[in-house]
Amino acid sequence: MDPWYLFALVIVAIVLALLIPRWRLKRAINAPFPTDWVEVLEKNIQVYRNLPMPLRLQLRKLIKQFLHQKTFSGSGGLEITDEICVTIAAEACMLILNRNSDVYPALRYIIVYPTGFIAQHRNFDDAGVLQAQSRDLLGESWHNGKVILAWDSVLRGARNFVDGQNVVLHEFAHQLDSESGSTNGAPLLAGASSYRSWAAVLSKEFNELQDDTRHSKRSLMDHYGATNPAEFFAVATETFFEKPVQMAKHHEELFEILKSYYRIDPREWQQPPERIKSSGRTEEN
Ligand SMILES: [Zn+2]
Repeated sequence: MDPWYLFALVIVAIVLALLIPRWRLKRAINAPFPTDWVEVLEKNIQVYRNLPMPLRLQLRKLIKQFLHQKTFSGSGGLEITDEICVTIAAEACMLILNRNSDVYPALRYIIVYPTGFIAQHRNFDDAGVLQAQSRDLLGESWHNGKVILAWDSVLRGARNFVDGQNVVLHEFAHQLDSESGSTNGAPLLAGASSYRSWAAVLSKEFNELQDDTRHSKRSLMDHYGATNPAEFFAVATETFFEKPVQMAKHHEELFEILKSYYRIDPREWQQPPERIKSSGRTEEN
């Protein structure tokens, strides 16, 4: 074969390999948002109807991209449905509204169990001995492109968006955190000064939560956030989205820095408490 012909074929193959995924993604994003999916959002995502229309449209676009790029698989006998995929994608994408970034570029797989699952871990203890541990979990985020979730907890968190407990927001905050190269409570930020302010505010709040936890004192954020800075960022994210009014009042600096990081103000989506109660009851009926 003519070497120039072969060279041209290779170039064409490379160009197609680069362009085809982009065309497919563009086609997926531009496809109409299925009405079944809108029904899932209205039924399962408590705050969806409160979002301003531009954010709803943005969210729908992000969901289409998320579902195009990520692979869901069921475990423990769970069969994956559109409802499961759309609910998880919607909550995950609420963390990346108003950005022009990729949609969790390192994440490839979402594994869903019907309920809490037992995770096996092997860690070296302080003496350097390899220890096998098993833990009951509702969710888990891995560096290697994997998030594991319990569907019943996902649904409970999505339908109650005011109690500060949301496993999807929690695990996907860990995913954002790990985009900086290590999961340490500091996600990718704009520059050195941003990291300085971030460290100052979050470490002060983390120390306060550790104090509250040590003294069994009630706190707005779940005591689990006192485990380490990474868990603090994930728990603070849940509180920011689900209890924004209380956080702005009692942890103003933390609220402001998270508002600037997430580029949204969830106080705008809050329903009056009486409406939250009645809609919660309707869903249970
Ligand atoms: Zn966590």
